[in-house]
Parts: sequence; C-alpha cells; structure tokens
Amino acid sequence: MSFETLGLSAELLRAVADQGYTEPTPIQAQAIPVVLEGRDLMGGAQTGTGKTAGFTLPLLQLLSVHANTSTSPAKHPVRALILTPTRELAAQVEESVQTYGKYLPLKSTVVFGGVNIKEQIAALKSGVEILVATPGRLLDHVEQKTVNLSKVEILVLDEADRMLDMGFLPDIKRIIALLPAKRQNLLFSATFAGEIKKLSDQLLTDPVLIEVASRNAAAENVTQVIYPVDHERKRDLLAHLIKSENLQQVLVFSRTKHGASRLAQQLEKDGISATAIHGDKSQQQRTQALAEFKAGTVRVLVATDVAARGLDIDQLPHVVNFDSPNAPEDYVHRIGRTGRAGSSGEAISLVCADELRMLAEIESMLKRELPRKTVPGFEPGAAAQIAARAGFADRPRREPRPAEHPRTREGRDSREGRGVAPRPQVNPLDAPYVTPPPAPKAAVQPGPTSHSSQRQAAKKPIPALLMRPATPPSEGN
Ligand code: AMP
Repeated sequence: MSFETLGLSAELLRAVADQGYTEPTPIQAQAIPVVLEGRDLMGGAQTGTGKTAGFTLPLLQLLSVHANTSTSPAKHPVRALILTPTRELAAQVEESVQTYGKYLPLKSTVVFGGVNIKEQIAALKSGVEILVATPGRLLDHVEQKTVNLSKVEILVLDEADRMLDMGFLPDIKRIIALLPAKRQNLLFSATFAGEIKKLSDQLLTDPVLIEVASRNAAAENVTQVIYPVDHERKRDLLAHLIKSENLQQVLVFSRTKHGASRLAQQLEKDGISATAIHGDKSQQQRTQALAEFKAGTVRVLVATDVAARGLDIDQLPHVVNFDSPNAPEDYVHRIGRTGRAGSSGEAISLVCADELRMLAEIESMLKRELPRKTVPGFEPGAAAQIAARAGFADRPRREPRPAEHPRTREGRDSREGRGVAPRPQVNPLDAPYVTPPPAPKAAVQPGPTSHSSQRQAAKKPIPALLMRPATPPSEGN
C-alpha cells in the first residue's frame, strides 16, 4: 500500500516523501482514512508503530481546509489540541506536526512545564491552529487566560494510559470541560482496560477501534534476553556486558530517579560514559543528556520510565532493564525503544531474585518464556559461592535498601505525575530461580534465540532523536 491511496493531499504526500517513508505503517494505513472521515478513534498502538503520523497527517489535512495565511492572530484560533503525558513526547509530537505540515499554512506550538511560560504566551498570542500540551502547563495557561480552547475541533489524547497512570485524569477532565461539545476525539493508549475504558466511554462517540500488533505483544524485531543475577552484582554485570560485547548507545532503565543518577555515576567510575535523565533534572539538563547520547559522546543513558516515555530514538540497538518495570505493560513500552520502525534491536533484562515474580507476569503477558543467559562469574549465587570458598559463607548478604526497590511508579513522587497506588510486595521465596546449566561461555537457555547475528545488524549508525533544540530553563519545575 502507498500513502497516495489514503486520500492525503499533495502537500502532505510531499512532506511524507521528504521523510523518506515509502509506505504507511499498519496504524497509519488504518487510522488515516478513519480520521479523514471525521470519525472518533480509539487507537491501540504501542510506541514505535508510527502512530504520531497516523493522527498528525489526517489532522493536518482536516484543518487545512480552512487554513489561511492571514497575519491576524484572531484568524488562527486553536483548532486541534493534542495532550501528551510528558514534555519530551509533547516536543516530539509538535516536531512531527511541523515536519508533516511544512507545506501547509497552519501554525503550531507546544507548551509544557519546566520552561519559561512567557515565550509560550507569546507563541499562543500570535495564533496557532495546533497546540500540543502537557495537561498541567495547559491549565496554567487557562488560569492565566493566555489560551482559548473554545474553537477546538479535534482533541487527541496521546498515550492516554500513561496520562492516567501519572494522575492526570482530573486535569484532563477540566480541560475537556473547556472544549466545544461538538468535536472529533482521538484517543491512543497501549491498554484499553479499567480507567481508560471509562474515559473512552465518556469521551468518544461511536468510535472506530483500531489495534495494531496484538496489544501488549512485544515488538517482533526485538531480541529479548534475561540475565538472572544477584542484585548486588547487577552493576558489575552491566559494565561487563557493555565492555565485553562493545555495546554502544545503551538505554538503561532504572526504577528510581536516585537509582538512575547513582548508576550513571558508577558506570562513569567503571570507565563507561553515562548520563541520567529523570524528572528531577531541568529541561535543559534533559535536553543536553539526550543530545550527548544522540551524538554518541555518551554511551549509556540511564532513564526512569517517566523520563524515557517520550524519547523517539530510531534504531536504538540496546535497551537494558536494570530494574524490572513496575507493571508488565511497562516492559513493552521500554523495549519499544529499540527495534523501532523495522530495525532490529536487543532488550536485555537483569533479573534478581525479588524480580522473578514480575518476570513471570511479563512472560505470561507475552505468552512465552524469554531465553535466559548467564555469564560465568555472574550466575545467581556465584558471589556467595566464592565467598563460601573463601571462608566467608556466614557473612550476611547485603539486602537491597528499601529506596532501591520501591514498589511504586515513579509518578508517585515525581513532579511529572500524581499519586499511584503501590503494587503489592512480592515474596521472593515464591519464585525460585531456574539455574541454567554451567557453560564455558555465555549460553542461551532455553529456546533457540541467538542474538549475536541480530546484534551485528543492530550495530548501525546512530539514532536520530527527534527532539526540539534545547529550550532555556526557567521557573525550575
Ligand atoms: P511513533 O510510533 O509515532 O513514535 O513513530 C516511530 C518512528 O517511526 C518515528 O521515528 C517515525 O519517524 C517513524 N515512522 C513513522 N512513519 C513511518 C513510515 N511510514 N515509514 C517509516 N518510518 C516511519
């Protein structure tokens, strides 16, 4: 199928061709005609599927019908509102709007917290048809009366499940109450359960449901491997893997902001250039960290789930789950950072005893067992055995401090989100290790998956991070 058959205008087809896209992805092929018809849409598409273009292209086409080149701000009211959970995703979506809309006389801007509101006010004042926003900052503008939402024709909730996870539901409801009742609504979410179902029932009118790839199914072109390892050996194993396998451009997930910073510092001490990105960092620090990672001057980017949510990284070869995610769905989001848009990637998970329950949940969701691999000297219990041989068998093992294993989403204490109920504590004894047989070299078990050949393929030149240029810091956040 080609983009030409989807009913897109010449200006949009030209912008798509400029990007080098030859054919629409499945979500684009299905969503574009539906949105062009003016229907409400419930889209189940995980990140990396091309969903942004899936809603941006038809949205631009619908708005272009009444587009004008007038210099009067009044002639450019906000006609489309796109809400996203994070600043990074907001910036990235607005960049897509500009990329695909470059041959159309439509104006757009993005507003999110952590940067100076004055520049945003000036941009809004000059008139924009398309506004991309995070909910909190948008409400700041509403309160300051620097935005008027009474002419919105199309509302997009991108990564709606994540917005609810982050506690944005009350903000979203307040925003929806400010919009005209008659409008088109597009909702994208990786899951359709619970609160999302309720929200979609309230929001959408006779929606068309589109799901691409089975929900919660991990991207097929990602090789996944589990390294069982003792908690206190994780960092050494990570450093060992990065060095021995010469991994470049590694995105590492840490469960906590503190853990992310500490791990980046420790890797630096091990001689591996690393930086951390999380909600306590200023926008400028986050942008800088991404730029360094993109340029290849920093080899490892350690991120929390919330901070990593909006990163668009093409062909990122390696994602590492240093800490297991808080929910199985997050695993899919995380590994969606690699193997994007057709390129292959590798997802490595370092799993210690108290994360086995979560691993079981992930495998149950994926409906398959992931291959285990061990590295001699890093097998679970190896440190204890060495200590035993050296006569230190009864020295107590250091247990992880509670701060290293909070069973809460990052949003709980993050300024990016609001409270989320903690998951129940896991009893580590419920899930015994399956110790792999000893092997001379790194051995995969069970299953036939070998990722060395794919790794070769994945060692491609580096990613393009679709980020806006650095925005000056202000206000703190
Ligand atoms: P998204 O899921 O919207 O974050 O998109 C993931 C990546 O796929 C982005 O880097 C896009 O530039 C890329 N992409 C989007 N549409 C296409 C397409 N039709 N062909 C190839 N790459 C695409």
